[in-house]
Amino acid sequence: RVAYVNGQYRPHGQAVIHVEDRGFQFADGVYEVWSVFDGRLADFDGHMTRLHRSLNELRIDIPMTREALGRVLNETVRRNRVREGLVYLQVTRGTARRDHPFPPEGTAPSVVVTARSLPLSKGDASAKKGVAVITHPDIRWGRCDIKTVGLLPNVLAKQAAKERGAAEAWMVDEMGLVTEGSSTNAWIVDEHGKLRTRDAQANILQGITRAAVMALIADEGLELEERAFSVDEAKRAKEAFYTSASGFVMPATSIDGVKIGDGKPGPIATRLRALYLDRAMRDAI
Ligand code: PMP
Repeated sequence: RVAYVNGQYRPHGQAVIHVEDRGFQFADGVYEVWSVFDGRLADFDGHMTRLHRSLNELRIDIPMTREALGRVLNETVRRNRVREGLVYLQVTRGTARRDHPFPPEGTAPSVVVTARSLPLSKGDASAKKGVAVITHPDIRWGRCDIKTVGLLPNVLAKQAAKERGAAEAWMVDEMGLVTEGSSTNAWIVDEHGKLRTRDAQANILQGITRAAVMALIADEGLELEERAFSVDEAKRAKEAFYTSASGFVMPATSIDGVKIGDGKPGPIATRLRALYLDRAMRDAI
């Protein structure tokens, strides 16, 4: 395996970042993840646009043009011989003596790209059975719309899920409303058959897969309400599922051990997964 680090492709085991990198010191950086189909990147533009937004919000310099970055992503995929899998990009504010304010002007951002294989069949097997979700308090900050590498609350939530035999943790605000998953956006088909997902303005990540699925919902003529749902509403829902670049559309068949619907992946989630995969594979570049 090889990784791209600041202009060079290095053997994965020797790909290193300086001890004074601000990503390491302060989690002062952002990231993106693309899924790879047949060696090509899915939802390329959506993730690239969100990357630029994250960098702008944090006033981190744009390290290189979109085109140049696209070439690095594709080259990293190629050099790792990934056909189906994931490509990861991280940009930090760079390396400078540890001090909280931004480093001197002209400090170059650090750029890292890695890629790994993940067979589609693995996610498909989970999607066929459905997965378990737990709920967990959302203890994050007020800018969850920025895709930063400061993921400690998400790590703790995902670990709690793992320790309870679940695949994902849905984080819950002080009002008892679900915000999002630790690394996914959360959805239900409510008691009335209406699709529900939290408003993207309400301190969550604007998922690229979420946006793609919203377009599919409109195409299918299904009803969608972008409004937060409570844990109780989720437990009474006909269906529950979550979306992300790595998991696509994943049906959840229990929440905190409570069976959702008949305990099997629901027809809407199953159909949206198939539609998403079709479209993502077709449009990958
Ligand atoms: N929410 C959070 C907190 C995430 O980390 C992710 C995945 N990075 C998502 C939602 C899903 O976003 P996307 O569909 O763009 O992968």
